[in-house]
Amino acid sequence: MKFSKALIPTLREAPGDAEVVSHQLLVRSGMIRKVAAGIYEFLPLGIRSLHKVAQIVREEMDKAGGQEVFMPNLIPADLWLESGRWQKYGPELLRIKDRHDREYCFGPTHEEVVCDMVKQTVHSYKSLPLNLYQIQTKFRDEIRPRFGLMRGREFMMKDAYSFHTDLEDLDHEYKNMYKTYESIFKRCGLECRAVDADTGSIGGSSSHEFMVLASTGEDVIASCNVCSYAANLEKAFFAIKQTGEKPIQEDPQEVHTPELKTIEEVSGFLKIKPQQMIKTLVYVADDNFVIVCLVGDRDVSEAKLKALTGAAEVRLALDEEIMGLTGVPTGFLGPVGLIDLIKSKNSEATYRLCFDRSLASLFDGVTGANKADYHTKNINIERDLKLKNDAQHDGFVDLSVVMADDPCPHCAQGKLVLMRGIEVGHIFKLGDVYAKPMKVHYLDKDGREKAPVMGCYGIGVSRTLAASIEQNHDDKGIIWPRALAPYDIHLMNFDMSDETIKTAAELYQLLIESGFSVLWDDRDERVGVKFNDADLIGNPLQVMVGKKGLARGCYEYKIRKDGTKGDFSCASVIGEVTKLLENL
Ligand code: ATP
Ligand code: MG
Repeated sequence: MKFSKALIPTLREAPGDAEVVSHQLLVRSGMIRKVAAGIYEFLPLGIRSLHKVAQIVREEMDKAGGQEVFMPNLIPADLWLESGRWQKYGPELLRIKDRHDREYCFGPTHEEVVCDMVKQTVHSYKSLPLNLYQIQTKFRDEIRPRFGLMRGREFMMKDAYSFHTDLEDLDHEYKNMYKTYESIFKRCGLECRAVDADTGSIGGSSSHEFMVLASTGEDVIASCNVCSYAANLEKAFFAIKQTGEKPIQEDPQEVHTPELKTIEEVSGFLKIKPQQMIKTLVYVADDNFVIVCLVGDRDVSEAKLKALTGAAEVRLALDEEIMGLTGVPTGFLGPVGLIDLIKSKNSEATYRLCFDRSLASLFDGVTGANKADYHTKNINIERDLKLKNDAQHDGFVDLSVVMADDPCPHCAQGKLVLMRGIEVGHIFKLGDVYAKPMKVHYLDKDGREKAPVMGCYGIGVSRTLAASIEQNHDDKGIIWPRALAPYDIHLMNFDMSDETIKTAAELYQLLIESGFSVLWDDRDERVGVKFNDADLIGNPLQVMVGKKGLARGCYEYKIRKDGTKGDFSCASVIGEVTKLLENL
C-alpha cells in the first residue's frame, strides 16, 4: 500500500479521553476512531491487524477441531426467555423492538442461539462431540466503556461452544481449548497467564481466564511466588495459618468508644491491631440483607458475595437501612447477639449472617457492641460465635479479598503476589445450565433422551490488539510483533529524486512479489515526519531508500523493536529481509 493513497490519519496528540497507552496509540496511529462511547470504527491499518488476530484464532480453532459458524447479532427475546437470562442479565443487555413490537437483544454472548442451533440440528449421540465457534461483534452496554478497545460496548469476540455426551469428554475438550488458547496467545506474541476465575453471569462450574500481564489491566491476579497457583482476585483465596495461639478466656467486656466508628479509629483508640477487630458490614444482595463479618483490615469481595448469594447486584446498605434493620447506628454493629436483636426489632426482614474465613485465625477479637458508642472486647470466636478457630468449619465462608503476602492456599511455603492483568480469554465448563432449561436433547446409545453437557470459550479479539500494545510500545509508538503488524515492512524513500523514487518503486514491487506485506511511505514529506509516523505505526521492519545508501549499493534498515540499524546490499535484500523478519 502506498501511504499517499491510504487513509492513515495519524495524529500528533492523543484524544483527551484516552487514558491508557493502547487507546492513545491506536487513535494516534490512525488505526481506530471513536464513533460513540465504547463504539469504534477500524480504519485500514486497524482492520489489517484485527484480521490478523482473527486469522490466528481461526487457524488454531480449526486445528483443534472447531467448526466455524456465524450467528446473528440480533437475537429474539424468546430464546433468552427460555434460558432465563432475559430477566437475569441486567442493563448490560441492550434490548430493542422491531416494527411489529417484537423484542430482541443485541448478543453479548451466544449460548442461547447456539443451543437453539444444536437443538434443531443434532438428534443423536453420534453427532457429538461438537465445537462450534464464530468470530463476530458483540454488544454489551458496559456501565463504564473506557480504555478504547479494551472495554468497548461493541467489540469483536471469538466465542466457541462445545457439546458433549459426558463430563469426561467435556474435561477433555476443556484441556484442548486451554492448550489452544496458549498457542493462540503465544502466536500473537503475548506474555499471558492462565488463572482460576469466577464464572460470573455466564454460570457453570469452573473456569480459567487468560491474562496478559500489564500495569494498566483492569483485573488483579493473585499468584504464588513458589508454586503455580494463580487466580483472579475475584476468586483467589488464602491459607489459614495455624498459629498455635489459644482463644482468649476472659469474659467479653464492653468498652466506651464515643464517636469512634471506623476500624482505624477504634483500633487506634484501643491500641490494638486492625487484624484484631471483627468488622461487620451490611450488604443488600438484590432484595435481601447479608451481614458479613470479617477481620478488620480485610475487604469484602463483591464478586464472591454475588457467587455465594446468587444475587445479580450487591451493594452496601445505607445508614438508614442498617438502622431500620438493627436499630444500631453504623459503626457499632457486631455479630454477638445480632440475630436476636434483629428478630426483636424487625421480624419481617430477610437477612443472613456470614462469617468470613479470615476470622478463623482470630483468637482475641474486638467488635461493635450493638449499641451506640460501645465496642466489646475479649471476643472468643468459638465461645461467643459458636465457630471453631479452623477454616474447615462449616460456619465460615470465603468472602474476603486476598492481600499481598497472604499464605498460598495450595502450597505450604508460598506467599501471594498481586499483579495487574488484561483478560483476553475466558474458558468455562458450563455443564447443562443452558441445555437443560432450553430443552436441548439428543438420543443416547440406548435411545434415551439426554441433555448434552457444554463448555464455552471466549477470546476478546479486539481487546487482544489493545493488550498487545499495552505490552509492546515505547514513547515513540507501537511495537507490533510481526504476527499482528498491519504490514511486515514500512518502506520509506528519503528524497523525491527520480532515481530514488524509481528504485523504491522497484523494491516495493519486489518485496510484495516475494510475499511480504509493505506499506510504502511515498509522500513528499520530510524524513523526520516519515520516521515519526513509521515509529508510531510500529511495523516491525523499516527499510529506507536514499541517495547516500544507493551510492554504496545499499538500502538502510531499522528494526522497530530495538532500534538496530544497518544496511542491506541491494542485491541480497530479499534474503536479508527474510532473515530479519523471522525473529520479529
Ligand atoms: P470482563 O470481566 O473484562 O468484563 P467478561 O468476563 O465479561 O470480561 P466474557 O464474557 O468471558 O468476558 O467474554 C469473553 C472475552 O471477551 C473476554 O475474555 C474479553 O477478552 C472480551 N471482552 C469482554 N467484555 C469486553 C468489552 N467490553 N470490550 C472488549 N472485550 C471484551
Ligand atoms: Mg464483562
